[in-house]
Amino acid sequence: MNTKDDNRASESFDDLMARLRDFSGARNRCFLCGHSLAAANYTDEHVVPAWAQRRHDLWNQKLTLINKTTLSYRNLTVPCCAECNGTHLKPLEDSLAKSVDVGVHAVRALDRSLLFLWLGKIFYGILFKELQLLADRTDPTAGTILTPADIDHYEMHRFFLQQARDRVRLLSFNPGSVFVFPMQDLPSRRIEWDLVDNVQTMFIGVRVGKVGFLAALADGGAQQANESHFNDIADMPLHPLQFRELCAYVSYSSTLATRTPKYLITEGKPHSVIQLPLGGMSARPLFEGWDPQTYGQFLAYYTGLPLDDVFAPPDKTWTWIYDEQQKPRFLPFAQAPELPGGPMG
Ligand SMILES: [Zn+2]
Repeated sequence: MNTKDDNRASESFDDLMARLRDFSGARNRCFLCGHSLAAANYTDEHVVPAWAQRRHDLWNQKLTLINKTTLSYRNLTVPCCAECNGTHLKPLEDSLAKSVDVGVHAVRALDRSLLFLWLGKIFYGILFKELQLLADRTDPTAGTILTPADIDHYEMHRFFLQQARDRVRLLSFNPGSVFVFPMQDLPSRRIEWDLVDNVQTMFIGVRVGKVGFLAALADGGAQQANESHFNDIADMPLHPLQFRELCAYVSYSSTLATRTPKYLITEGKPHSVIQLPLGGMSARPLFEGWDPQTYGQFLAYYTGLPLDDVFAPPDKTWTWIYDEQQKPRFLPFAQAPELPGGPMG
């Protein structure tokens, strides 16, 4: 047993949180565990995993961050200690790479907490990179991406990611809702990839190969409880536009959750966490009422289409997933060979 490692495992909850909240010198701290980095343990972690970049030829593709800065995938890296990168994250990536290759059934067979960690790590990596880019700006008046004060908002998420290091154990719950859908065969590997995220709703969507992942990372599992809503499309391979429609649906739904998840944390090795029942003693519904116009705005954002194309007042929103009878509609890519616009890409 590595004694240094053992000391880390027994650090108090307060010490752990103090480090996770500290973004001073973020360029020289591990994005996951927050420990200071020296040349000997410094590595670059690809936020979008190298296996996906290889398979889908993403290295030189650009993605757009939230203040419209563009960055190539190959440069979307965050500082990571050798232990987090090699010992904790590599097995997670290996497991996802293998399962995605086999297909949607293999991915669905994985423990949902693994899927949460994988998606949560990509989401957090993008946030961390945005923070770092801000620090690199020579003109501080040129506009901000994220400030340390913003990122504090995500500290519970970073705490939950410590599951990857076995420092935290979540007892029978996931902090968010995670969904997996089959995606269609497309004519090239390059377009069998999509990445969207939304920092306000803590949503991330990843389409990789024949598998689409969607996660509302901080809804306390509220949408997971309504998972049967998706039963009729669970096995229908989706068109890329239908995937973006689902992104709009899950991202918007997470804004309707009426409960802020509450946790009880027991200090230990690891620290263990339980989530209090979302319903609690209240008879209030778990979600607020659906507003078609606001959903239309989400749909416009995620598909890159004008609001007028996807929303007709007072309450009609466009769907590519269902037909006029509200039955699932298989939409073959060959019949509609268009990729959605919209965020990231
Ligand atoms: Zn680390």
